[in-house]
Formats: sequence, C-alpha cells, structure tokens
Amino acid sequence: MKAVVWYGPHVIRLEERPLVEPGSGQVLIRPRYAGICGSDKKLYEYGVLGTHRPSQPFIMGHEAAGTVAAVGPGVEGLSTGDTVAVNPLLGCGQCFYCQRGEENLCERLTFRSITADGVFSEFFVLPAEQALRIPAGFDLRLAATIEPLSVGVQAMRRLPVQPSDSVLLIGAGTIGLGILGMLRCAGVPRVMAADLLDHACQQAREMGAAMVVNASREDLPQKAAAFFGPRGPDVVIEAAGAPEAQAEALEFVRPGGSVLLVGITGEALTPVNVNRITRSNLQVLGTVRATGESFRAAAELVISGRVRTAGWISQVFPFEQALQAFECASDPAYQLTKCLLEFPS
Ligand SMILES: [Zn+2]
Ligand SMILES: [Zn+2]
Repeated sequence: MKAVVWYGPHVIRLEERPLVEPGSGQVLIRPRYAGICGSDKKLYEYGVLGTHRPSQPFIMGHEAAGTVAAVGPGVEGLSTGDTVAVNPLLGCGQCFYCQRGEENLCERLTFRSITADGVFSEFFVLPAEQALRIPAGFDLRLAATIEPLSVGVQAMRRLPVQPSDSVLLIGAGTIGLGILGMLRCAGVPRVMAADLLDHACQQAREMGAAMVVNASREDLPQKAAAFFGPRGPDVVIEAAGAPEAQAEALEFVRPGGSVLLVGITGEALTPVNVNRITRSNLQVLGTVRATGESFRAAAELVISGRVRTAGWISQVFPFEQALQAFECASDPAYQLTKCLLEFPS
C-alpha cells in the first residue's frame, strides 16, 4: 500500500509500506477522503508546528473518513464495510487529564501524524474507539470535515459565548469557519470576521458572519470601531495562527472581555502586553485539539446539517498528487480553503 510520507519542508514522498493486520481491539481503515489541515501545511512548509519539530519521516494527515476494511479480535460495534470518521486523538485513559475528561491534554497522548503515523495512506490500523460509525451513504467528503469542526466545538466549550455577546473572529480558515458555525448554532448574531484572503472572507460571509473585513486592504480598527462601538467587542477569538493576530486580539477586546486563542503559530513568539490583561481585567484562554465528546458532537452537527461544511471543500486531489495538493494548498494565490486527498474506493 502507498502512503504520503513527510521527509522535511517541501519534501514529501509517496512510499510503499507493508499492509498491517488489525490486532486485538483494532480496525483496519481504508480512508476515502482525508483533509489537509493548516497544521499539515505548517509542517510541509516550515517543518515545525508550535513546539513540535519532527526529526523522523512520518505518514502525514489526521482528518479522515472511510470504511472499515477489517476488524481485529474483540472489537464490538464495528463491522467490515461500516463507514466511519476517524478521531485522530486517543488519550491514555489513566492520567490526571484523562480522568478529568480532558484527554486533549493527555500526558501520554496519541495523535495521528504527530505522535503516530497519520492517515494519508491507503490503509491504516486504528484502535476501534477512534473510529466513529456514521450513517451508511453519508457523504464521506463531509465526514472528513468532522475533525476540523471538532476543534471549533472544543473552543466553544472552553468559552461559551452568549447570544448577547459581540464577537470579533480573526482568521476564517477552516477552524475559524467551524467557530463561526458554532456561533451561529449558539444564536450569536453580532459577529465580525476578519481575514487577509478574499476566499476566506467569502466563506465567512456564507457561514453567517454579520460583517466581514479583508484586513489586507480594509482598516480593521476603523471597521471594528464602527461595528462594535468605541468600547470594542465582548469576545475576540484568534483562529489565524499568526503572532500579529494574537497581539491584535488582546488590543481589540473591550475591558472586562474575553480572548480565546485557537491558532497555532510557528516558532515566532508573540510579545504580550501583560499590563493590558491586568489593567483591562481581561480573561485570556487557550484551547487545543478536541476531546472525544467534542468529536462526537461535531459529527452530529455535520451529519444533521446544523453546521454546513460543504462549502469549505475547495478542491479534491487524488492522493498520488499529494505534493501538488500541498503546493496548491499552501499558496494563497489558489484561494483554497480545505483540500482533500481522495483515496481509491
Ligand atoms: Zn487539523
Ligand atoms: Zn491520559
């Protein structure tokens, strides 16, 4: 079987790997569609994601949907041929965080493409609890968007936004769009979204942002003041993964308001005006990955159509063209939101 293997920035190879049988409690997954995440793009472009700097080749990807190709001994509730969405995260179930239901912070976390091989391969073995059965016949392209949406679900659990809150969302990539979908579900009408790219702005409009600003050519502070009034928004959510946007988030939020940091930057660190946090009585929160509960909630939202993710999918590439897919996905000139790799059915 073939797999998409990372060797370094801008170096990925299609490699032959042995087909592995599922062991006890495991299933063999045949992915049909797998999404290229912003985090995959950071590893592709720079070879670094936050503090994670891989030193060995690894199989990329963590957003997949497909079918169960084989079932190992002792697996209950899944059969060959079932369609599933893959949760890339597995907590150890034992540590301090797992005991608290915060397996996204697990001390012995397994996360596909980060601590274990990813999903960009024709087959992969997975512990059965990471495969979530979805209705037969459901569009597997949409099912591949469950994982990125789960990050937005988790973010909104971290900072529940009230319908009366005004919100500035900086960054309308897939994660930002998922957050917009969640804000809409929560009945929050006063949302302004900002991005630097036209297609992202267009997507934000379609996901229901009341006001959208292309900050590459429009004056964001002026637009924000007009929309929110001089006091500023109650909540600012940073989903751009850029140091400038993180700094802006802390400046834009009103005194007494909340900032939620979702984006992951590269190695560049953001200088923080701590006095602004103290003197303006800010609440500053971070959020990372998603728990199984958030993953299941995201699946429910996608399957029911309460959050519509079809518009996120800009282009589908055969997985053999992974290199080209990464080149296009990383180049803003192509105006792509979510690229999927397609695997043979
Ligand atoms: Zn991702
Ligand atoms: Zn754990």
